[in-house]
Amino acid sequence: MNMDLKNLTIKKAHKSLSEGEFTCRELAEAYLKVIQEKNPEINAYLEIFDDVLLQAEGAQKKFSDGTATVLTGIPIAIKDNILFQGHTSSSGSKILENYTATYDATVIKKLKSAGAVIIGRTNMDEFAMGVSTENSAYGVTKNPHDITRVPGGSSGGSTACVAMDGALVALGSDTGGSCRQPASFCGVVGLKPTYGSVSRYGLTAMGSSLDVIGAIGKNISDVKIVFDFIVGVDEMDSTSIPLKFYEKKVVSKPVIGIPRDFIVEGVDPRVIANFEETVEKLKFAGYVVKDIKLSYVKYAVPAYYVVTPAEISANMARFDGMRYGSSSKSENLREVYIKSRGKGFGKEVRRRILLGTYVLSHGYHDAYYNKANTVRRLIINDYNKAFEQVDLVLTPTTTGPAFKIGEKVDDPVKCYLEDIFTGPANMAGIPAISIPSGFVEEEGKKLPLGVQFLAQHGREDLLFEVGSKFEALQRSVI
Ligand code: GLN
Repeated sequence: MNMDLKNLTIKKAHKSLSEGEFTCRELAEAYLKVIQEKNPEINAYLEIFDDVLLQAEGAQKKFSDGTATVLTGIPIAIKDNILFQGHTSSSGSKILENYTATYDATVIKKLKSAGAVIIGRTNMDEFAMGVSTENSAYGVTKNPHDITRVPGGSSGGSTACVAMDGALVALGSDTGGSCRQPASFCGVVGLKPTYGSVSRYGLTAMGSSLDVIGAIGKNISDVKIVFDFIVGVDEMDSTSIPLKFYEKKVVSKPVIGIPRDFIVEGVDPRVIANFEETVEKLKFAGYVVKDIKLSYVKYAVPAYYVVTPAEISANMARFDGMRYGSSSKSENLREVYIKSRGKGFGKEVRRRILLGTYVLSHGYHDAYYNKANTVRRLIINDYNKAFEQVDLVLTPTTTGPAFKIGEKVDDPVKCYLEDIFTGPANMAGIPAISIPSGFVEEEGKKLPLGVQFLAQHGREDLLFEVGSKFEALQRSVI
């Protein structure tokens, strides 16, 4: 059966599955075929689960017994740091190469009960640290728009897999931009939900006070559907919170704020031009657009690279060669730790552990860690003040289009600067979404660009509403 996967959406697939136009098995097989063709080159998936067709049969039963949901039978990919019981979950690291998840993450439980078909696990930067998937222990993922370029990171496998039609939607995680930056590079939509709105139970931790599981899809509607399934308070995650205002507080004409001051420095002029076009389109569509000041947001990246390494160094301590994953045999315990961690962790993870233990060490704690947390508070205040005047904030998602494989890998600071537009939302815990906003042409290839909308805690509904309008505007202009 020939299916138009490029134009398939969750709603369309659900309609066809409900009307018996195709079965869950046929839909899964269509995706498996694409994966077989494209994955050897793109390397979006690290593994295709061997029970995909079994899952599809189970989903089909839900259609026959009347318990199907809109996600039933929908092929979804998961990032390699989300635990799916009985399946390997390596977080892109050598140290967890042979680790089999002993329980389901809450999001997986939710997907399972909705009847989604979980196709496989996707490539990522090791433990989600990076911007390109080049920090994966399992090779780089290539950008489907230009295979000489990175797909972004750390959820680069998830975004590339949606962009190459290897899954209809995917889950990623976002600690400083990992759903949004790769979404922008791959021409898809990436959502970072409000911190705490989606359970982190079963997500291998990177920076626990910033991590959140997000959704990636070709359009806002697909992303919203996935979000609506995975959102919710979970007693297994003590930081999970209810979204009190989600879809409850109507805003008749959302006002959009532009923090111009922080958009100029080091940004590709083509990104600025595309961003200005976006602003014009939104004005044309009747939105009020206002300049705003976010005085401390420019310090988000330096503060982020103190706060996250600190949390990372604590979170990585559990990978000691004794309890999880691979272990190097040795005479004494200390040697086991040193050898296992030395062999198991890649360069970037080691760098962050060193940075983290340094900023937490006696004598430097106040100078670095506490100061960074003060800056974090100021950033939160900045946004709170901004959201008294505007409903949404708009920025570019990235400073440029997807960069070349190898271009930044040896320069950590260049990589860290990739987070300039995305990191602030994580520092503040607010939701943000990246939406495709056009293309630039380079070496005969069309490279996607994206813009990012940010909203107050729990106002994902505003992101979806304005995002859908912007999406429609894009379609009408093209
Ligand atoms: N690029 C950021 C980092 O390396 C963010 C990664 C993420 O969101 N997981 O820390």
